[in-house]
Amino acid sequence: MSEVRTYVVLLGVPGAGKGTQAKLLEQSTGLPQVSTGDIFRYNLKNQTELGKLAKSYMDRGDLVPDDVTIRMVEDRLQQPDCARGAIMDGFPRNLVQADAFDKITAPDGGVHVVPLINLEDDETIRRITGRRSCRTCGAVYHVVFNPPKIENVCDIDGGELYQRDDDKEETVRNRLFVYYKQTSPLIGYYFAKGVLAEVDGSVPITEVQQALLALMG
Ligand code: ADP
Ligand code: ADP
Repeated sequence: MSEVRTYVVLLGVPGAGKGTQAKLLEQSTGLPQVSTGDIFRYNLKNQTELGKLAKSYMDRGDLVPDDVTIRMVEDRLQQPDCARGAIMDGFPRNLVQADAFDKITAPDGGVHVVPLINLEDDETIRRITGRRSCRTCGAVYHVVFNPPKIENVCDIDGGELYQRDDDKEETVRNRLFVYYKQTSPLIGYYFAKGVLAEVDGSVPITEVQQALLALMG
C-alpha cells in the first residue's frame, strides 16, 4: 500500500514569507516546495508557450487563468519528488483552485494543515519592495532584513540578484488588492475545514520556521 501524502498549503499576503519558509521546510521535512510563481517565472525565462501566456497577467499582478494553473499543478504533483506530498507556496489562490485542490488531495484525506502567515500591510510593502531574487536558483533575500553576504550576489550559487518586475510598488498594490479580493476567502474556507493555523509572520525568519515546524506535527 502506498504512503498517504502530506499536503501543506502556506497562506499569507504577498511578502508574508511563504517562499522563504517553504524553502526551509523543504530542507527540514524533505517535502518539496511547489511554488506556482516560481514555475511561471521559469517558463517566462525559457519563453515557453505557458510563459508567454502568463506574462501579461504577472506583469499586472493579476492571477493567471485557473484552467492553465490547475493543469500545471496537477502535472507538477505527478513528479516523483512529490511522492510523499508537497509544501504548496502560492497555490491555491482562489476558491476555484481550492476546490480543484480538494479533489486532487481527496485520496490522501485532503490538505493536512494550512498555516496562515500574518503580516501588516505596510510591512508587506516594505518586504516586497526590498526583495531581491537570484537569477539562477531563485533564492530570496531582502536588502535590509535578509541581505546576502556580498551585495547583489547569491550566497548559494554566486548568481546575480535582481528585483522582480512585479515587485515595483504599483504592481505590489494590485497584488495586495487581488489577495484581499480573491485569496483571502480561503482563510474562512480552510478554517471551516478545521485545518487553518495562524502564525505571526512579523518575527525573525527562524522563529516563524519553528512555529511552522510545530504545526507540521
Ligand atoms: P512571499 O513568498 O510570501 O511573497 P518571501 O518569502 O518572498 O514572501 O519574502 C518576502 C521578502 O521578505 C523577502 O525579501 C524576504 O527575504 C523577506 N522576509 C521573509 N521572511 C521574513 C521575516 N520573518 N523577517 C524579515 N524579512 C523577511
Ligand atoms: P508572491 O510570492 O509575491 O506572492 P508569486 O511568486 O507567488 O508572488 O506569484 C507571482 C505571480 O504569478 C502572481 O502575481 C500571479 O500573476 C502568478 N501566480 C502565481 N501563483 C498563481 C496561482 N495559483 N494562480 C494564478 N496566478 C498565479
